[in-house]
Amino acid sequence: MNKTKQKIYNFTLLLIAISATTFGQNDKRVFIMVHFEAGRDTTHPLINQIVYNELGFPPDSLLNNSLTFQQIFWPSVVDMVQTADSFDIKLSLALQSQMAEYILQDTDKINILNEWVNNGHELAMHHHGINHVDWGGYTNRFQGTPYPDDYLFLDRFLNSGLYRGNMQDSFNYLQQLAIEINDSVVTGCITDTQIDKPDEIIYLTDGGTLNDLISTPDTVSLPNETFYFLSHCQLVSVYKDGNNEIIEDDIVNHQYATERLDLIKENLNQLDDNEIMGIVFHVFDYYRFPDIYRDLFIFFNQNQVNNKSIKGLMNETNTGISVNFKNDNIKIYPNPTNQIINIQGKNIQEIELINIRGQLIKQMKVAQEQLVIDLSQQPKGIYFVKATVDNSIVIKKIVFE
Ligand SMILES: [Zn+2]
Repeated sequence: MNKTKQKIYNFTLLLIAISATTFGQNDKRVFIMVHFEAGRDTTHPLINQIVYNELGFPPDSLLNNSLTFQQIFWPSVVDMVQTADSFDIKLSLALQSQMAEYILQDTDKINILNEWVNNGHELAMHHHGINHVDWGGYTNRFQGTPYPDDYLFLDRFLNSGLYRGNMQDSFNYLQQLAIEINDSVVTGCITDTQIDKPDEIIYLTDGGTLNDLISTPDTVSLPNETFYFLSHCQLVSVYKDGNNEIIEDDIVNHQYATERLDLIKENLNQLDDNEIMGIVFHVFDYYRFPDIYRDLFIFFNQNQVNNKSIKGLMNETNTGISVNFKNDNIKIYPNPTNQIINIQGKNIQEIELINIRGQLIKQMKVAQEQLVIDLSQQPKGIYFVKATVDNSIVIKKIVFE
């Protein structure tokens, strides 16, 4: 055996030894994402009120200075990461750009973030577009993009004077922070995805209810980018009644969060090897009821799940799909379309229609050489037709307008 081979051999033995000593950890993959909100004057009044009541900050400082809002939550963030560390839990910290802007003002805070990232936590992005009740102030929609008719909060924003910049401006704060700590931002929870997702974000998360707790990362590929969609379930401490009104009662809210935590715990047993469980909560949730989230960390620690940041989990995931953008055996047309997609080809095994968020809309096992997808029941926007042909996958992006 020559020297190089000997080295590789020794290294392999070392790896085997290491994997043998990490006994106990099971294959259940879990990520925890934390959302940092913008704190603009679009933030829900109750959230502002909670902070105002408990800390006595004058409300104007919250309403007009989003960095003050970040300052209020910073000690909770430090406490949260310390608690996570003490149970060896890794967090994907999804910052709206206001928190990045706030951290960038202080070298000590940059150094703290650097330590967290070196320790396996992740710097990720969060964004609320104008389709969200709390807009973060950034969007690409002001660059001449048409607005969908059904945007509930549109008037409020169009005349509000709250516009801070486009998504490049927003991403720049995250990027600057990443450069400071020799990192890159590749994960994000971005609402109004179709218009506002920065190209750099390749691991896209979304979700809400317990139905969204578990996902198999779906690939969505474009000729110049590939991204993966991961869903997550909200473990929130803000209870809404049947009319979708927020209830301001600490005992009710604490009970609600506890019940959701119990449901999440029950769901862990159902998680398969090819699936990932995702949990999301807000910094203000931790701020309100730290015991709930500490309990979550302890639970995953005791169950010895494979918990990493989203970037960490995806780095060790081999999706095993080969993606082609050209295959002469299949034609998918017209593009753009105003209703119908025609698919024509030989040896087509399966057709899937996927929306921009990576969700499967239709799935067809096919034997014929021609078929038609009717989009008339779907909202307008970008879709992907994923065809399995000759045992390889062809993906075509279709614009429905
Ligand atoms: Zn949010």
